[in-house]
Amino acid sequence: MELSRRVAGLKPSSTVAVMNRAAALKAQGVPVLSFAAGEPDFFTPDKAKIAGVKAILHNNTKYQPTAGDTETRELLARIMTERNGVPGVTKDHVLVTAGVKMALYLTMQALFDVPAPGQEAQELLLPTPAWVSFAPIGELAGAKVVQMPTTTASGFKITPAQLAAAITPLTRALLLNSPSNPCSTMYTPDELAALAEVIAAAAKTTAPGLVVVADELYQHIVFGDVPFRSIGSFTSIAERTITINGSGKSFAMTGWRIGWVSGSGAFGKRFIEGLTKLQGQTITAVPGFTMAATRAALTECDEDLDRMKHAFKRRAVVMYDALAAIPGVKLARPVGAFYVFPDVSAHFGKSTPGGVKIDSAAAFAEQLLGLHHVAVVPGEDFLGEGYKHIRLSFACDEALILEGAKRLAAFIASLK
Ligand code: GLU
Repeated sequence: MELSRRVAGLKPSSTVAVMNRAAALKAQGVPVLSFAAGEPDFFTPDKAKIAGVKAILHNNTKYQPTAGDTETRELLARIMTERNGVPGVTKDHVLVTAGVKMALYLTMQALFDVPAPGQEAQELLLPTPAWVSFAPIGELAGAKVVQMPTTTASGFKITPAQLAAAITPLTRALLLNSPSNPCSTMYTPDELAALAEVIAAAAKTTAPGLVVVADELYQHIVFGDVPFRSIGSFTSIAERTITINGSGKSFAMTGWRIGWVSGSGAFGKRFIEGLTKLQGQTITAVPGFTMAATRAALTECDEDLDRMKHAFKRRAVVMYDALAAIPGVKLARPVGAFYVFPDVSAHFGKSTPGGVKIDSAAAFAEQLLGLHHVAVVPGEDFLGEGYKHIRLSFACDEALILEGAKRLAAFIASLK
């Protein structure tokens, strides 16, 4: 008996796989230092936890309205308007769902059709390297993923000219993730304005149905000089921008599984109505107590947010300095999110002391884990030039970062 082609052909998530593998090794007593998971080591802020517990005690444990409760949707609409500067967002433009992955899944399902036989697939433009689940979630919906390659030297950012050249009549959506997982670089407001101009122009000519999907999950984890700006705040493209966000990374609430999607104007409202149908036929709704906790996080936990952001800022420096000092390791300075994505390909072709050849990022990560007990995510599944890179998360404490960098340096020094 077989599984569907859709599932049989689906790659497992490599971030989740390394995360689980490191946890399993630790449970067996192996002293693994894990830089795998994009998950803050902080606890969920007390005020958010208390709000969640209180909601349970007040019996907020029943089915919720499909798109989320009114209070949460109204709050998120207000935040999108006032904080993110996106025009035309009301509660009817917001859907709360089970984390950013589900938000992306629903969004892609609502944007793409599986091509009929003989028909060409609609295209999803994806600047790469990109988070490992973007392409598979798009492909599950029927999209043909068109990569727009970026490099360490360009801060892993596409240029307006590159975008203009990539848009064709088949282009349905552009997926932007700024700050980026895994690159931890981000677009400046001016760069976003230039991209918005290209999108607005293309929508008038080549690709009238073009939509921007903006994954802004790391919006609050920004610690360089670049201020965050939502691409949906540019009025020329606001209505064709779908913004995705969540409470997991910023508020150390990964396990609560809360994400949301918001749109703007007439299309945004229709889009959320479509997503609401999909949610009604899949997960029904998210739990009320997780929404209560999220509201508290968004309204009462600014101090916690600041504390965590400052810790990430310090860790970014520690991680960058430690890795940049290792011979043959090339990396961009992180300005947002909590990853570094070093190019380690200078060491490909060498062998470990035991004679195992390092011919890929996967082999590099495998041997680093096996020999020095350091878990990192190999870069292949981030696409583009990711195959030369490994990803390390610095959502962990400074002592761990220093020890991990020491082991990485020792591993590299041992390669001949
Ligand atoms: N988003 C996190 C990461 O990139 C968690 C795992 C996943 O969903 O990919 O590590």
